[in-house]
Amino acid sequence: DLLVVGSANADLVIDVERRPAAGETVLGGDLAVHPGGKGANQAVAAARLGAATALLARVGDDSHGRLLLDSLRSAGVDTVGVLVGGAPTGVALITVDPEGDNSIVVSPGANARLTPADVRAAGSLFHASRVVSAQLEIPLETVVEVVRNLSPDSRFVLNPSPPRPLSSEVLAACDPLIVNEHEARVVLGDACVSEEPADWAKLLLAKGPRSVVVTLGAEGALVCDSSGVTRVPSVKVDAVDTTGAGDAFTAALGRQLGSGASLAEAAEYAARVGAAAVTKRGAQESYPTAEEVDAL
Ligand code: ADP
Repeated sequence: DLLVVGSANADLVIDVERRPAAGETVLGGDLAVHPGGKGANQAVAAARLGAATALLARVGDDSHGRLLLDSLRSAGVDTVGVLVGGAPTGVALITVDPEGDNSIVVSPGANARLTPADVRAAGSLFHASRVVSAQLEIPLETVVEVVRNLSPDSRFVLNPSPPRPLSSEVLAACDPLIVNEHEARVVLGDACVSEEPADWAKLLLAKGPRSVVVTLGAEGALVCDSSGVTRVPSVKVDAVDTTGAGDAFTAALGRQLGSGASLAEAAEYAARVGAAAVTKRGAQESYPTAEEVDAL
């Protein structure tokens, strides 16, 4: 039902007392290795909610690639579209200081080698999917090719993260475009003439998408289409770790749209999934099942 096209990374995390200056070495805590990347996160989140989910991505022929494939398969993701080889698996090198602030170096690796030709070769995955979801941790030209390969009756969901200005062709395909505050500002660029999230939603809609969702962290989200802006409340939870909340939200929204929900209904459910995801540490490890969402 759901096809995610996007990145798969190994997140290598070390706690440090402070970051090294140039030429300096510091000692840190034990290394933790987590499966991550926005594409893999979304696919795992959707599969854990019970959606039939496939991932189109590229990993290296290495131990990080195998870690990702294991995590995807144990969540129930169809990995026939996970291509192997061409470059090392993408890696995020993350140091976390005592305040909890992250410093991150990303090596896109195999993610940068997911090509338009890989998209064209995955035609059968596109035919089988009512909803296709993408992010921007893969080449923009690959995302453009995704838009060109959509089935006439399938729906495209884009979270432009990390954000870049988008062409009118890509914007016009989005239904919805899902952005947080930072992504809204970058995609709007010069058109960001307001500090009001409801205005961002309307200004973004004017750029061509059929609908827009602005996520607001603990404040919930706004949905916007031709009938106007609707506020979606958040669920009050004790936030432990917000890593991957946006990915869980996007995956849940895509899953609900694929089962026929309206945009507002889907966003309301997605806000509950996002809230559940922040109550546990990590990204993929924190994603709830449908039963856990219902219990919230
Ligand atoms: P991103 O991770 O992309 O910046 P957000 O932080 O806006 O995205 O989170 C996505 C969604 O997850 C929010 O719209 C909200 O529904 C939910 N969420 C995130 N943080 C919290 C929180 N502290 N409490 C409750 N819900 C949250």
